[in-house]
Amino acid sequence: MRLTVIGTGYLGATHAACMAELGHEVVGVDVDPDKIAALRAGQVPFHEPGLPELIRKHTATGRLRFTTDHTEAGAFGEVHFVCVGTPQRKDSEGADLTYVDAAFAAIAEHAAEDSLLVGKSTVPVGTAERLAGTLGVEVAWNPEFLREGFAVEDTLRPDRLVIGVRSAHAETILRKVYEPVLEAGTPLVTADFPTAELVKTAANAFLATKISFINAMAELCEAAGGDVGVLAQAIGHDDRIGKKFLRAGVGFGGGCLPKDIRAFAHRADELGVSLAFLREVDAINMRRRDKVVELARELCGGAVLGARIAVLGAAFKPDSDDIRDSPALNVAARLRLDGADVTVYDPEALDNARKAFPLLGYALSAEEALRGADLVLHLTEWPQFREIDPERAASLVARPLIVDGRGALDGDRWSAAGWHFRALGRPAPV
Ligand code: NAD
Repeated sequence: MRLTVIGTGYLGATHAACMAELGHEVVGVDVDPDKIAALRAGQVPFHEPGLPELIRKHTATGRLRFTTDHTEAGAFGEVHFVCVGTPQRKDSEGADLTYVDAAFAAIAEHAAEDSLLVGKSTVPVGTAERLAGTLGVEVAWNPEFLREGFAVEDTLRPDRLVIGVRSAHAETILRKVYEPVLEAGTPLVTADFPTAELVKTAANAFLATKISFINAMAELCEAAGGDVGVLAQAIGHDDRIGKKFLRAGVGFGGGCLPKDIRAFAHRADELGVSLAFLREVDAINMRRRDKVVELARELCGGAVLGARIAVLGAAFKPDSDDIRDSPALNVAARLRLDGADVTVYDPEALDNARKAFPLLGYALSAEEALRGADLVLHLTEWPQFREIDPERAASLVARPLIVDGRGALDGDRWSAAGWHFRALGRPAPV
């Protein structure tokens, strides 16, 4: 089939390449000419394992092309996927739909009458209905659940596909688009517009709630002297609770969860339904950043002024160079503001971090960051940080003090190597 993908950021670039991999002819469209030039040259402007290879493979075969021209895309596609951003509005918690509205309008103007416009962006419930009522072209909603770092795998082999459709015709078209994925046994959930939109925001709200739940338990453990690691393991044995997403730490960030739960609560208010608990989920999440800053102060003897602090991690999560609302950089920047001499290391996100936080210090390796440090903060859960040898690390730092803000390091090993090891929600060693 002939598909277009409007917006070639994290979601759109991945979707475009994966649709070509499924056998379709795909045109990716973006308003950012630099992004399009890079993609045409087979370069992906962000870190996503497997994606550059897929883009180069299909730009070479000619099955995947990129343009800044909506007119060309409108004339080309039978199905148009809209993948533009839906950031938080500047003046409220709600989602900014300017980009979605502009992208739909631009493509609808040039699209063939019998083409299908499919929204993939995460939007407040009611958006699909509103667009369908104004555009004069058939609309469907197909929310996306991919995880950065696993985006290609998640697109080609998703847990499920969700489509919000208003006609059998739209369903048939989307089934055809995803035929190889469906043939591999992927469940398809067909829903009306509001349900399809809500599935996405509900899934994100649930995940955020799970993280903040265990982080609230960490706060309680800190107050009462318990160990949240043991608690999480014990409750996780219950299948109804499950073990995943129960690692207490500095909390979630990124371009999705924080803004999505805020937009969800905001939209619920508009509909007269209270999702006030999501505001608490958000508040718990932000308090964990405060806690790391407090711990850093405590370990530096009451103030971080002049202390050399090594921060391991800049991306909001491992396997990504995405620093949007990164807890690691938020903590690093606050410590810098308090007068600490902060050096950040991250395997992939240094370029992005440098651009956004030019006043922080940066190192090209974990060793370089650790050298001479008075305090080490482990804030992004990259696997290579688990591989750091605590004995070797102890020989590099000025003082062997570490805060594991991700609950991912082996505290016993670090303590045995002479470190004062602290983790969120766990008792301080005596
Ligand atoms: P992004 O900011 O990386 O990409 C958005 C792109 O859209 C940018 O390249 C921008 O230049 C382009 N754009 C804006 N207006 C345009 C227009 N009128 N025409 C063409 N291009 C236009 O954002 P993202 O992370 O890819 O997220 C996109 C959407 O997908 C959001 O709603 C997000 O919540 C959702 N989503 C993201 C992820 C993820 O992991 N990043 C996962 C699931 C869903």
